[in-house]
Amino acid sequence: MTDIIDKAQENEEIFLAEALYRQAEKNTATVSNYYCDDCGEPIPEARRHAVIGCTRCVVCQEYFEKGFPG
Ligand SMILES: [Zn+2]
Repeated sequence: MTDIIDKAQENEEIFLAEALYRQAEKNTATVSNYYCDDCGEPIPEARRHAVIGCTRCVVCQEYFEKGFPG
């Protein structure tokens, strides 16, 4: 049963590492949005701090980078 917890922690580490990488790669803004530009959902505090200047939630950012389906 601990596999699920381990996996979740692993995913979080990957998410944070990726967020820091992206922040260093294109750090153009200095203030993160409280709400996603695309869907209007609140952006989690951890993401706002990890990705300074983020304007989208994780889901919309993925769509933005990979292209919206259809
Ligand atoms: Zn969104």
